[in-house]
Amino acid sequence: MVTLSDYRPFLDLREIKEIEEAANNLRGREIVHINATRYGGGVAEMLRSLVPLLRSLGLRARWDVLEGDDRFFEITKRIHNSLQGNLELEFTPEMWSHYLEVNRRNSARFEEGDFTFVHDPQPLPLVEGRGDGIWIWRCHIDPSRGNPSVLKFLSRYIERYDALIFSLEDYIIPLGRTYVVHPTIDPLSEKNRDMKPSEVEGVLEKHGIDPDRPIIGQVSRYDPWKDPLGVIRVYRRVKERIGEVQLVMVGSSASDDPESSEWYELTSREAEGLRDVHLLTDLPDIEVNAIQRSYQVALQLSTREGFGLTVTEAMWKGVPVVARPSGGIKLQVIDGITGFLASDLDDAASKVVYLMKRPWLSRILGQSGREHVRRNFLITRLLEDHLRIMRDLHQGRAGQAGAG
Ligand code: UDP
Repeated sequence: MVTLSDYRPFLDLREIKEIEEAANNLRGREIVHINATRYGGGVAEMLRSLVPLLRSLGLRARWDVLEGDDRFFEITKRIHNSLQGNLELEFTPEMWSHYLEVNRRNSARFEEGDFTFVHDPQPLPLVEGRGDGIWIWRCHIDPSRGNPSVLKFLSRYIERYDALIFSLEDYIIPLGRTYVVHPTIDPLSEKNRDMKPSEVEGVLEKHGIDPDRPIIGQVSRYDPWKDPLGVIRVYRRVKERIGEVQLVMVGSSASDDPESSEWYELTSREAEGLRDVHLLTDLPDIEVNAIQRSYQVALQLSTREGFGLTVTEAMWKGVPVVARPSGGIKLQVIDGITGFLASDLDDAASKVVYLMKRPWLSRILGQSGREHVRRNFLITRLLEDHLRIMRDLHQGRAGQAGAG
């Protein structure tokens, strides 16, 4: 079980003090987090670190998970995709009623806390059963271009929350009091913890990658928005100029996601005839960690991106990133300081070559990148944000009571 002191190596004393003070003001309060899955996905990963941290600070934090059947999760996947901008998906009254019914059944199982954080659309309607506690909807996706009729349906629930939290300013839907909390990574997780060089080398050898030659690559789902074909095209250009370079891409094959197997196929076809290309799938976190550490330059060519945690992860490992300026990448890659932004594939290839020829520059960008992540995108910052938001809402509530 992690405690705040495990994070001491990454924080200054002042930060630790501030977190402890903020937590003291809330000591004894009950904080409930509710999401739709215990495993898999960024939200579960975040809660796995956040909830023990809150507890280690003397707060009564709890993590409850919604129970639903297959039908429910099919419907909520549809809601998710509609909110993210797919305008074609249709909903029948039966779908909506099943969605609400599952939430009502769950509602009877849960008890609200002084603060109840509800994550993403699946458990959103739980707020129907709310009492006097403070309720917060934490939206991890970008609903700003969502299907208007779906948003209209959900807004009657969203509006019942005391506050809404979004990942980026651009994602806000103004249906109440809003906060912005940027995503973060956990430096102690398997994905990000320090590794011995021999561990990294072991992973490279396991996958037939030559540890003696330079490696570049991208970690991302095989998905059109991540532009895996662009990665191959950039590699082709780099390879023409630096013959010994190798490309290692990591993605998930997601057998349940037909689109990703299709894009995996397209990517491997695009790479036909190219030497030293490794397209890996479904690696455990520690191997993803090792591959990221092996990169001389990490690519992130997404044409559309939420936040881009893979960029955060590479930067945390001191690896310089060459990325397209999409979504949250713009907050992370400060061009020429913490990495390079590329306007197109030619530009990306030139910047990769430029960095590979200048190890000193890669080192400077890598160090600044890691520091940028340390200051802004570690889970301890998220913890601070949550404490601040709870204090703010609690004071707001006390103020209202005083005024009334
Ligand atoms: N990831 C992984 N294995 C893969 C591909 C991705 O573990 O094969 C992880 C990656 O390390 C990151 C997350 O999945 O933690 C992807 O988050 P990001 O914000 O970059 O993109 P998303 O997939 O959410 O659009």
